[in-house]
Amino acid sequence: MDDNRTELERLGEFGLIDRLADGVKIYHESTIKGIGDDAAVIDAGDKYMLLTTDTLVENVHFNLMYTPLKHLGYKSAIVNFSDIYAMNGDVRQIVVSIAMSNRFSLEAVEEIYDGIKKACDLYQVDLVGGDTTSSTSGLIITITAVGEVAKDEIVYRSGGKEKELLVVTGNLGAAFMGLQVLERERQIYLENPAIQPALEGVDYILERQLKPEARKDVIHYLKSLGVKPTSMIDVSDGLASEVLHLCKAGNLGCALYDEKIPVDQETFRVAREFNLDPTTCALNGGEDYELLFPSNKLITIK
Ligand code: ADP
Ligand code: MG
Repeated sequence: MDDNRTELERLGEFGLIDRLADGVKIYHESTIKGIGDDAAVIDAGDKYMLLTTDTLVENVHFNLMYTPLKHLGYKSAIVNFSDIYAMNGDVRQIVVSIAMSNRFSLEAVEEIYDGIKKACDLYQVDLVGGDTTSSTSGLIITITAVGEVAKDEIVYRSGGKEKELLVVTGNLGAAFMGLQVLERERQIYLENPAIQPALEGVDYILERQLKPEARKDVIHYLKSLGVKPTSMIDVSDGLASEVLHLCKAGNLGCALYDEKIPVDQETFRVAREFNLDPTTCALNGGEDYELLFPSNKLITIK
């Protein structure tokens, strides 16, 4: 055993990021916010530019047995858009890097791009470049998104105030339960390919897993109400993790009320079928891509 070797699992993802961030120097005044928020913030003159990147890796983030390629492309764009909205900004451009083996045909890659283009059309984003390489270990898609926000509209993870009410823009845990169903059916198929997948009554949670949306609508709605949250984060890793990030960044504590955590009926029912606690799914599931922010006003969001 090497005494100098630290296993990554001991650090966890956030511990690792903290270690990597250690000693990173900022040389430019234009770097307003570096590592540590949903997107980096860069002074672009009369506005701030926002910059974020996310990678989806085959057999880590998706399994091609049950992930339609078009949905995969769509989702890989959406997860990036969500981080820009979490800064209260608007997405402007993306670049797309894709690594794949010769197992993929032109038609397959075009399917992925159809999904990416669909997301760009719906969210009004320009696809402006990328990179194409080969991979020996599965499909990898990395998207980097650029956004912008008026300087007085930027919202960080920090900035929350005492006595605010933490609100979330939609129900949680659905994408996680969708994944559980897909994984269950995959296992059943592997054991007996003749069995048809049992996917009745789970449309909503499957859609939340396979074709998520980012809450651009909420950002524009809040603007129309003249509401600017004091702080904000998107829920990509589960409510528990995001609440901790907001509290840590704002130097605050908070209380969560079990019965107030929004869980959709279908999520609730399927969680029970799996002998899972629906609240635990909301807290630890992830991939919800809802926005979480404290508010001092009561806001009704569809
Ligand atoms: P999110 O879930 O919002 O995408 P992450 O948890 O992935 O955010 O990352 C948290 C912060 O750490 C972000 O500011 C991100 O840019 C930064 N970060 C993540 N991985 C790295 C890395 N390998 N090197 C530098 N910064 C990183
Ligand atoms: Mg985020």
